[in-house]
Amino acid sequence: MHPDLEKLIVLQTHDVEAKRLRDELIALPKLVASLETKLKAVEGQRAFVLDLIAKEEALRRRQESDVKDLQAKIEKTRKKVEQATTTAMVTAFEHEIAFAQGEIGKLEDSELESMERSEGFELQKSAADEAVETATSTLARERVRAAETVAADKILLAEVEVKRAALRPLIGEAALSTYDRIAKGKGTAVSEAVNQKCSACQMMVRPQRWNDLRDRDNDAEMMTCESCGRLLYYDPARDAPQRKTVAVESIAASIIRSLRS
Ligand SMILES: [Zn+2]
Repeated sequence: MHPDLEKLIVLQTHDVEAKRLRDELIALPKLVASLETKLKAVEGQRAFVLDLIAKEEALRRRQESDVKDLQAKIEKTRKKVEQATTTAMVTAFEHEIAFAQGEIGKLEDSELESMERSEGFELQKSAADEAVETATSTLARERVRAAETVAADKILLAEVEVKRAALRPLIGEAALSTYDRIAKGKGTAVSEAVNQKCSACQMMVRPQRWNDLRDRDNDAEMMTCESCGRLLYYDPARDAPQRKTVAVESIAASIIRSLRS
């Protein structure tokens, strides 16, 4: 294998790891922020339900007080009936009493309706309490985990950067600039060819190129994938059992070529 390629393979593992760490360092605070937003949302929902419950309670207190007022009024009117001197007065007072009793009936009905609504709100409150509790504990747990991971990632990233900085000057200038150019566009610049395929883009490597790739030891030129343009390398240890198949395929391909020509 080209000596620069060996170093580029190592450089790529450092670069991939550095990217993973940087991505994680960006993602973790975002995750924590989204959990904070979630907690605020469920707290808001709970506050809304608590407000509804408080309003129903206030409504019932007013209704109960109104009922007491009407009952007092009925008592007073009954006394007036006892003291009334004409039939017309008695009729008028009795009419007043009946009206007040009707009002009490309406208030009691609406109090029952309010209590039914409150029961529904209490169920919503239990669900909201649970949601707040879950969101609070999730946030606390993820905050700790994120802080620990960020601290560890920063150390790992610094270590990877040291390794990168030490390795890059050992690589030929041309090879390094090719690597940087491909990596910038595609994320990775070096790809292992496995089973006659580029492992990055999954496209087949033509038999002749595949054989070239496998057979050379210390070539001056590095081979690229015809499909994605990444620098290709071949690891004999991984691909050894495939050799026979490929040989058969390439013989078949050369027979087909000779038949066509
Ligand atoms: Zn490719």
